[in-house]
Amino acid sequence: MKRRVVALLLAALAGLAEAVPIAVDVGHYLERPGATSAYGITEFEYNQSLAAVLAARLAVEGVPVRLIGWRGEMAELRERPRQAEEAGAGFFLSVHHDSVHESQLEPWVWNGRALRHADGFAGFSLYVSRLNPQLDQSLACARAIGAALRDAGLPVATHHAAAPGLGLEWADAAQGVYYYDNLVVLKTATVPAVLLEAGVIVNRDEERQLAGAARRALTADAVARGLRGCGVMVSDGRR
Ligand SMILES: [Zn+2]
Repeated sequence: MKRRVVALLLAALAGLAEAVPIAVDVGHYLERPGATSAYGITEFEYNQSLAAVLAARLAVEGVPVRLIGWRGEMAELRERPRQAEEAGAGFFLSVHHDSVHESQLEPWVWNGRALRHADGFAGFSLYVSRLNPQLDQSLACARAIGAALRDAGLPVATHHAAAPGLGLEWADAAQGVYYYDNLVVLKTATVPAVLLEAGVIVNRDEERQLAGAARRALTADAVARGLRGCGVMVSDGRR
């Protein structure tokens, strides 16, 4: 009996040792926290909250997670994939929340504060760079995450295909994946890298959902499913 327990323990440890760390990058930093939501919250705060849920979700499956930029200190973009790779990460996922072009924002006042919203835009989107040396794997993972988010009932944010001054090319429109070649964290990573915009925080309805535990859990589940599907996340069998 005792020997069996030891054998099980060794098997579990071997599984942990085999699991390749995944880097979860918290987009933006305290001094420049990204977009401001319809209700006046910074994108960085949303990124940090979702990254925490996602990291916990992956850890439950026995996958080591390296959080990048967690304390809001990471001003240098190239430093993000570098730190991730130095920590042995085999995959880089940058977590963001989406906004729209300036010209598409409408003013409104909430709690006495002048803010802006764009209720006509919603959904998630994913990004890969053709300058990343592991484009095929990056794309496979972005597609798998997108498919899982679609299965969970979330819409794709299509507005970046026709955004004023940007107009990104689709890599896979059905799964919400765009090419964004010059995104620094994606093109300077040497491991497969994907950027996720989890939802549109200038949409007043969607922001309420994005601030809730249910939507964060749903997104984290979909990411875990996607990363398993594309083969970068090997679960050690614990659930
Ligand atoms: Zn962002």
